[in-house]
Amino acid sequence: MSARSDLVAAWLEPRAEEMVDFLTRLVAEPTENPPGTGLGRCARLLEEEMRRLGLEAELVEITGPHTLEEPFIVRGTAGEEGKLLYFHGHYDVVPVQDRGQFTMRREGGKLYGRGTADMKGGIVSMLYGAAAAKELGLTGNGRIVIHLVPDEETGSVVGAGHLREHGMIDPSAVAMVTGEPSGTSIWNAARGAISLKVSFEGREAHVGQAAFGINTFAHMVHVAQPLLAYAEEMAARPTGYTMDPDDPTGSMVVVGGLSGGGSNFNVVPADAWFTVDSRFNPEEDLHAELERMQTLIRDAAAEVDAKVTVEVTQFQPPAGTPADHPAGAALAACVEEVRGEPARFEMCGGILENRWYDQLGIPAFGYGAGRLDVSHGPNEHVDEQELIRTAAVYALYAADTLA
Ligand SMILES: [Zn+2]
Repeated sequence: MSARSDLVAAWLEPRAEEMVDFLTRLVAEPTENPPGTGLGRCARLLEEEMRRLGLEAELVEITGPHTLEEPFIVRGTAGEEGKLLYFHGHYDVVPVQDRGQFTMRREGGKLYGRGTADMKGGIVSMLYGAAAAKELGLTGNGRIVIHLVPDEETGSVVGAGHLREHGMIDPSAVAMVTGEPSGTSIWNAARGAISLKVSFEGREAHVGQAAFGINTFAHMVHVAQPLLAYAEEMAARPTGYTMDPDDPTGSMVVVGGLSGGGSNFNVVPADAWFTVDSRFNPEEDLHAELERMQTLIRDAAAEVDAKVTVEVTQFQPPAGTPADHPAGAALAACVEEVRGEPARFEMCGGILENRWYDQLGIPAFGYGAGRLDVSHGPNEHVDEQELIRTAAVYALYAADTLA
């Protein structure tokens, strides 16, 4: 370990209990999304903690249309004008399996509870990493700006979208890191997403007069076929980015995740609908793939005279920063300095808020304690020591990128 990383470790280690206590209080805020409740209280707690840690802090009111309860962007700053490094995170969590998940449990060096991994634990590491960097004078010729948003679990158009729309992301930033649960890897790429709702309109008729009806269920089944074939084709197109060897490398398309329609078992259904949800590899052109899906739907509908409408409910571009980008190499060096083993780069199988920064040309990475595979489940947890190590990585990364 270098003198510098010793210094950071010596600053963080006496604060280990404080970090656990902060995470306990964050987990206790039930910021489930959907529906997006309790966000204001959690935002105020985050603002207060930032101040306590010596960061500048402000709550940014979200002005766009939304259905969330009191959503704010919590913005923190450590350091002075000059170079700029972003830390980004979200304080909403996916719904619990059990209310007990809002009471954090400590067992065998691990912290269990909703959001411990995804990603209130990451927020704790980012805030302490920034505070360490500031107090130890590691922010050199610049500053860390922390953005904490309230709606990542439902697409992040309200929170990160607000940052983008109001010019709050400076394209000249040297890099962005989000503390999502990447395990011990660095995520340098993430998939893009398109979600569709495909709806059909027909004519209702009682079973005794079924011949007078127009059966939308039959239309739906017909239109789903080419989409299922399309899903198979996309699954067989692998990404060039490195992935966890257990994860599928193709683009993923789920046809019929949700479906519905009809009024009764003995009536020809006058309405029917199904969803299509997809995660596209960074190499794919999402506009072209959307056009392909829409054409498949329109052509199949025309074959059976179906009246169809397609609603695009989500369109999120992918993100990808080459692993050999200097900002990536610098992060990998910090990870190695703290963990004592070489860092690995991988593509995240899901979508990441990296895309909001990547689109502006900012090198963007996911790196955080906790594992993705436990994140949304009943057994969500994070390792206490990993929280501290991750905070150390963030502090050192600030030192290197802002110097
Ligand atoms: Zn997350």
